Amino acid sequence: MRKMNNEAPQPQVVILGAGFAGMGAVRKLKHSPVKVTLIDQNDYHTFQPLLYQVATAVLAPNEVGFPIRQVLHQHEGAVFHTARVSGIDLDQKQVLLEGMPPLAYDYLVVGLGAVANFHGAAGAKEYALPMYTLRDAVRLRHQLLATLEQVDRNPALADDGALTFCIVGGGPTGVEIAGALAEFFHSVAARDYPNLPIRDQSRVVLLEHGPHLLQPFKPRLQGYAQQALEKMGVQVRTGQCVQEIAPEHIILRSGEILKTRTLIWTAGVQANPLAASLAASLSDSQANSQANSQGIEPGKGGRIPVNPDLSLKGHPEVFIVGDMAMITDSKTDQVLPQLGSVAQQAGHHAGSNIARRVEGKETLPFEYFDKGTMATVGPGAAVVQMPGRRAMTGSAAFAAWLGVHVMLLTGSEEKAGVLVDWAWSLLTRQRGKRIILSGEGPDPAPGDA
Ligand SMILES: Cc1cc2nc3c(=O)[nH]c(=O)nc-3n(C[C@H](O)[C@H](O)[C@H](O)COP(=O)(O)OP(=O)(O)OC[C@H]3O[C@@H](n4cnc5c(N)ncnc54)[C@H](O)[C@@H]3O)c2cc1C
Repeated sequence: MRKMNNEAPQPQVVILGAGFAGMGAVRKLKHSPVKVTLIDQNDYHTFQPLLYQVATAVLAPNEVGFPIRQVLHQHEGAVFHTARVSGIDLDQKQVLLEGMPPLAYDYLVVGLGAVANFHGAAGAKEYALPMYTLRDAVRLRHQLLATLEQVDRNPALADDGALTFCIVGGGPTGVEIAGALAEFFHSVAARDYPNLPIRDQSRVVLLEHGPHLLQPFKPRLQGYAQQALEKMGVQVRTGQCVQEIAPEHIILRSGEILKTRTLIWTAGVQANPLAASLAASLSDSQANSQANSQGIEPGKGGRIPVNPDLSLKGHPEVFIVGDMAMITDSKTDQVLPQLGSVAQQAGHHAGSNIARRVEGKETLPFEYFDKGTMATVGPGAAVVQMPGRRAMTGSAAFAAWLGVHVMLLTGSEEKAGVLVDWAWSLLTRQRGKRIILSGEGPDPAPGDA
């Protein structure tokens, strides 16, 4: 083990989760005199903004899943374990892991992300396809391709809703997947299956509970997104709530029954369930009677409220970052959304505050650098809402989306690969190789990471 000047052992920093937040912290600690151990249940980092491209066969899974051990080649001394975190013992300062002994820490960064929130819709756990993990995207891709093969063998299934793909949730993810599916049916499936009435019978239905798509965006951008989707053939239905999901139909709150075998769930996320156990163990611990009076209960979506420097109340050695944390921007006093750029910057900040502590300095409050909120609708169509009153639509917005997201990607080799495949798909309207592998199907259950 490397020693500090006074020969004291280096502090052990344990980072939970190799998402945007966790990897941000790892990067920031690269040159600090600490021992970094990173834990994730998967051996790859997932680039979630491009999951819909995997689901619609534009990109291959390995283009949005990056091997963590390879990424860590640039971080000499950092250790990685593929293990599932089962608990955090704040009093003993150790992390409980499945299949491994507990891991002690001096500093802890928790960035375990979120899981789908089905809002209690009946049948959602069993039959809805969430869109949060790489496995979710691969499962949807399999569902898409396998359904087309089924209809090819038995075209009567098309009259029974097999070519109707419903998406619940009109936020950026729902909008992006709806556009990508419509594009897939019209420019790819129609050519792959010339014997089937794909153009006439395939339907992409986007169901949104609220009165508009893209709720946090300006009305002009909401209108643009809806019009662009409708132009691509997507049926946008706002003010609709899905009450029940069955294998071959869904029931809306109005009582209407829609025949479909594919229901994609993009209607919200909640913090990783470990957030609740962390809050509970916090309220059990002695420090907590005091902490609880400061309002430690999980906030909206189960997120854990954190101090301005991103540390956990009552535990200055623990930092909660990314989708799991309820982070308030010190500059604007606004609670920040669950976004990749927020997670990445928060991870950096937590790493930098740990480095400051190790150097005996005070921590600093987190200030978010807002590059804008964006969503793609289809090739050359996107919306971007920038800080202040500025907004962009169309191909300029699409280019901005592309630039910002490629910059978020890990590793230059992957960036180049993703750009080439994307450019190819845009120019030729072609997709990546579409083959069905057995084992990609509905097992394991939706929602598993
Ligand atoms: C489909 C989709 C599209 C999106 N598009 C955009 C976009 O265009 N722009 C944008 O800014 N944001 C986008 N987001 C949001 C963004 O991806 C998230 O805000 C961001 O990934 C959160 O980062 P994180 O590090 O907190 O969590 P994650 O990136 O989810 O990482 C959490 C990590 O923790 C690991 N983990 C979880 N539980 C355990 C456990 N028990 N034990 C061990 N490891 C565990 C997971 O395997 C994962 O690697 C999108 C999200 C989705 C789902």
